[in-house]
Amino acid sequence: MSQSHLIPFTEMAKLLAHHGLSVTIVVTPVNALRYNKLIDYAKNLNLNIKFLSLRFPCPEVGLPDGCENLDSLPSPDLTPKFFKASNMVQKPLEKWLGELESESLPDCIVSDVCFPWTSDVALHFKIPRIVFQTVSCFTLACSHSIDCHRIIESITSPKPFLVPDMPDKIEFTEAQLPITRSATSDYMRDCMKKFKEAELSADGVLVNSFEELESRYVKEYQKTMKNTWCIGPLFLANSINSEKYSKAPVDEHKCLKWLDSRISSSVLYVCFGSLSSIQPQQLMEIGLGLEASNCSFIWAIRKDHLTYQLEKWLEEEKFEERIQGRGLIVQGWAPQVSILSHPSVGGFLTHCGWNSTLEGISAGKPMITWPMFAEQFFNEKLIVQVLNIGVRIGVEVSMQWVAERKIETLVQREEIKKAIGKLMIDGEEEAEERRKRAKELGELSNKAVEGGSSDLNVQLFIQHIKQMQISLSS
Ligand code: UDP
Repeated sequence: MSQSHLIPFTEMAKLLAHHGLSVTIVVTPVNALRYNKLIDYAKNLNLNIKFLSLRFPCPEVGLPDGCENLDSLPSPDLTPKFFKASNMVQKPLEKWLGELESESLPDCIVSDVCFPWTSDVALHFKIPRIVFQTVSCFTLACSHSIDCHRIIESITSPKPFLVPDMPDKIEFTEAQLPITRSATSDYMRDCMKKFKEAELSADGVLVNSFEELESRYVKEYQKTMKNTWCIGPLFLANSINSEKYSKAPVDEHKCLKWLDSRISSSVLYVCFGSLSSIQPQQLMEIGLGLEASNCSFIWAIRKDHLTYQLEKWLEEEKFEERIQGRGLIVQGWAPQVSILSHPSVGGFLTHCGWNSTLEGISAGKPMITWPMFAEQFFNEKLIVQVLNIGVRIGVEVSMQWVAERKIETLVQREEIKKAIGKLMIDGEEEAEERRKRAKELGELSNKAVEGGSSDLNVQLFIQHIKQMQISLSS
C-alpha cells in the first residue's frame, strides 16, 4: 500500500468496471478514506465498484496507529513491520470470503505482488489469481533473468554486469539493484523471494504498460509468464470524466495559470515522487542547480521534505524571490499529470518511479533521470538507453547505499545544470531528436488505450477469466 500502487490499482478497478465487471477493492480504513472519491465516481457513472475495508493491525506489529500506507511510516526502518502487518490481513479476508455463498465468490482475485499470501487464499477458495504489476516488462524481464542466473550471488566486483538473454546490451552494478547483499535485510530478502514465487505461480499477469513501448521486453517476459497482458497506461485509460488524484493537489489552478504564461516547451517539471527520502542539503543543491540552469521550472517539494532546515534556507536566501518570474515552487502534492500534459512543459526531472515514468512518456516529454531506489535504475535504463528519450543526471548508486554511508549530497549543482542544458536547450540536434521520439511515444500511448493494444488486452484478459471459470466449474 503506497501511492504508486494504489493509484494504478484504483485506475484498473475503474477500467474493469467500465468493461461491465463488478469490482471489490480490498483495502484498509485509512486508504479507503484517501480513495473515497472513487465511490462517488462509480456512483455517478453507474459503475459497480465497492470497497471492502479490513483492519490493518498496526499495534500488533509495533507500528504507530494509522500507518497504513508506506508514505506515512515515520522511518523507512519500519518497512519490515509494515510488511508483517500486510501479511496479517490474510485471515480477515479469508473470513469474509468464507462467509459468502459459493455463487457470490469472486470470479478472480487481482492482487499486488506484495501480497504473496493471496496465492493461498486463491487456492483455498479455488479462485483464479492474477498478479497486477506496477512496473514495466523491461523491469520484469531483467529481474527474472538476474534471479534465474543467480547474478547477485555471483557478483565479485563493483563493476557492471551484463543481464543475460536481453534483447539489448543491458548492464547494472550491484549498487543499483533493488536487492543487494549488504544493504538489504534478511527479512526483506525473504519477502522479495515470496513476491517472486507468488508472481511465478499466478494464473496470469496484468502490467501497467503498453506493448508499443517495450514490445521486445513484453515478448521476453512472456517466455516466463505466457498470460501477460499490458493494459496501460492506466491513468490514461480512464482520462474521460476521471478523478485522477488520490490526494488533493496543491493549487492546480495556480500551476496551470503560471504555465499558461510560459513559452511552449520551455519549462522543466521537477518531482521526486511520493516516497523518496532526500537530505535537506541535497534539496538545497537542487534549488541552486535549477537557479544556475537559467531554465524555467516548476519544482514540487513534498511536505515531509520541507524540514525546518530547508524552510530556513529558502527564507534566508530569499530563494523564491531570486527565482521569481522563472521558477515556481509547489509545496505539497503537485497536480503532476496536469502539469506534465501542459504544452509549456518541455522536460521532466524525475526519480524514475514507474508511474512518473509512464506519465512523462504519455505526455510526450523527454526526461532527466535521477533514480533513487527500488526498480528505478531499471526505469532509467529503459528511458535513456532503450527508448532514447532521457539524459542521466549521473547517479550510480541507490539510496540504501547512500544512507549506509551517510552521504548528504550526491549530485552537485553543476551536474544538475549540465543535465538541464543537455535536455532543454533548443536547436541542439540531439535534444530535438529526443523531443521528437518522446512525442511519438506519447502519441502511441494514447492510441494504445483508445481502441489499441491495451484496450484489446483488457478484453482478452476478461475472456481468459471467463474461460477459466467455465473449466473450473466443469
Ligand atoms: N504524484 C503526484 N504529485 C506529487 C507527487 C507524486 O501526483 O507531488 C503522483 C505521480 O503522478 C505518480 C505517483 O504519485 O502517479 C508516484 O508514483 P511513482 O511510481 O512515480 O513513484 P513513488 O512515489 O512510488 O516513488
